[in-house]
Amino acid sequence: MLEVLKTNKITEITDDLSNLLRDAGYLELSACIQCGTCSGSCPSGRRTALRTRSLMKKVQLGLKEEIFSDKELWFCSTCYTCLERCPRGVPVTDVIIYLRNLAVQEGYMQAPHIALCKMFYNTGHGVPINEEKWNKLRKFHKLPSVPPTTHKYPKAEKEVQALLKSTEFDKLTGVGDYDEKKDDKGG
Ligand code: SF4
Ligand code: SF4
Repeated sequence: MLEVLKTNKITEITDDLSNLLRDAGYLELSACIQCGTCSGSCPSGRRTALRTRSLMKKVQLGLKEEIFSDKELWFCSTCYTCLERCPRGVPVTDVIIYLRNLAVQEGYMQAPHIALCKMFYNTGHGVPINEEKWNKLRKFHKLPSVPPTTHKYPKAEKEVQALLKSTEFDKLTGVGDYDEKKDDKGG
């Protein structure tokens, strides 16, 4: 398997890839017998186009472009059922998480993920909670209209952005100009 990976484009992404691949379970993938237990156990696969067995086969074949550009990669809910049930000990979920990391490093991000990253960068929150309807609901339940987060402490918002910049999150995701209200209206 290692020889296959050495000639595979996926292996060109990082310098210390062999260690990373070992951590992510790529080497164990050679034990996959395509039995389909992962697909048959997958709760996400019942509702989406995710076919875990097929995804593992694509990884074995090194179909990087196909894997990274397909929404299927993001349909896994990381429930770990496949990992626990695989008769060959393939750490399927870890492989999927690692593939996602590689995909983002390579610039393959889905539009909803970019929108979420922008909102997180600009508000310190991954979901919108500073809207009139939520403010009213909080008041109805005798809570302050905004929670004690970046919404209450705008200075903390700048600190969140500084942290994200220090990890180059802003460059990786292209965030920085997100308008929560505009996005909420589909703009
Ligand atoms: Fe391969 Fe394991 Fe999935 Fe079976 S359950 S197809 S051996 S990864
Ligand atoms: Fe399906 Fe992902 Fe759960 Fe595996 S971890 S069974 S691929 S949803």
